[in-house]
Amino acid sequence: MAKLNVAMLAQTSALLPDNIEEVHAFWIAGGSCDGCSIAAVGATSPSVEDLTNGTIPGAPKVILHHPVLAVNAGESFMEPFRLAAKGELGAPFVVLCEGSIMDEGLAAETGGYWSGMGSDEDENGDPQPIPSSSWVTRMAEHAAAVIAVGTCATWGGIPAAAGNPTNAASVMDLLGEDYRSSLGLPVVNIPGCAPQGDNITETIIAVLLFLHGIGPLPEFDELGRPAWLFGETVHRGCTRAGYYEEGEFAKQHGDKECLVEVGCWGPVVQCNINQRGAINGMGGCMNVGAPCIGCTMPGFPDSFAPFYQTPPGTVVSSNISRVTGSLVSNLRKMTQASQNRTNKWNKDGNVPSGWGHVAEPSVLEKVAHFAYEKLQFKNSPKPGSKVK
Ligand code: SF4
Ligand code: SF4
Repeated sequence: MAKLNVAMLAQTSALLPDNIEEVHAFWIAGGSCDGCSIAAVGATSPSVEDLTNGTIPGAPKVILHHPVLAVNAGESFMEPFRLAAKGELGAPFVVLCEGSIMDEGLAAETGGYWSGMGSDEDENGDPQPIPSSSWVTRMAEHAAAVIAVGTCATWGGIPAAAGNPTNAASVMDLLGEDYRSSLGLPVVNIPGCAPQGDNITETIIAVLLFLHGIGPLPEFDELGRPAWLFGETVHRGCTRAGYYEEGEFAKQHGDKECLVEVGCWGPVVQCNINQRGAINGMGGCMNVGAPCIGCTMPGFPDSFAPFYQTPPGTVVSSNISRVTGSLVSNLRKMTQASQNRTNKWNKDGNVPSGWGHVAEPSVLEKVAHFAYEKLQFKNSPKPGSKVK
């Protein structure tokens, strides 16, 4: 786990001044589907409005410059980008990158470009589009932080899949390992296709609070992911993990059991969607029946293909679970049956339910329960027993 520490930052940077009340955030889109923008505006804790209205105590108000959400257009929209790229904005700013960085050299060979925003005049006075990669490079030099949003920006993602014609890569690939923002941060990466909106806004606010000298030091892993969001596997937070442990597996989509045999990579994938939900605490892949296809991981999509087929490692792990799980789950069912009875019902030898017949425990079950209770109350008296 790579930790940025205050001492490290102090050597290379200064934190934001105490009296800063506003921080600009420039959203730059490369090769993307705009899904990360949609995800961000769906965030609820905190919401984009919380950031832009400055309602989070201690956090500077965020002035958002977003090509889709902005109300202004043309040069009045582009002007702050131009100033920031020249280091003349006169206010601190962060750069938020969505989408892959395309190899514009390839496009230029045929006189085109892959993705861009605004234009500069060429030597003939003709307008030429400014590629997104150029904006990122120019602005990164002066930015307080560069935050890559979504798997395309963090690792390359779908546009960088095998066979792509664009030579697409990530923001980290573009800026290189030696890159540090003006306040000493390497590129921060929030992966996901699309990431949960809350992961985006929470990371932005954590970085801003820290840079403002108010929040705790955020911890990032060796790939620049917020460690508190991406430190655990999907599997550990999955609502179906109990089925996995007891060796019960879905045979087809729509089944309620563990989805590993219909293509879930959750045991190895770092993602918190099952705990956090997709939007406003609701949804999330396995919660709604979808196997994990590894969309937060640098190897996505090629390393997880073909989708919806049993991952090879499952042959070992799920079969072990099947063997141990069937034994464990039968023992648990016996314990569960006895815990579903009151002391009175045990004494009466009958459960007076009008909803259905509850079978009395067999001799074997009674013996097993007797042995179980011996262990349970080995070190403490059983309720109702005489204490010696
Ligand atoms: S559905 Fe996937 S993440 Fe959930 S328990 Fe099964 S393997 Fe793990
Ligand atoms: S559970 Fe898997 S597919 Fe779903 S968001 Fe997380 S990494 Fe992506």
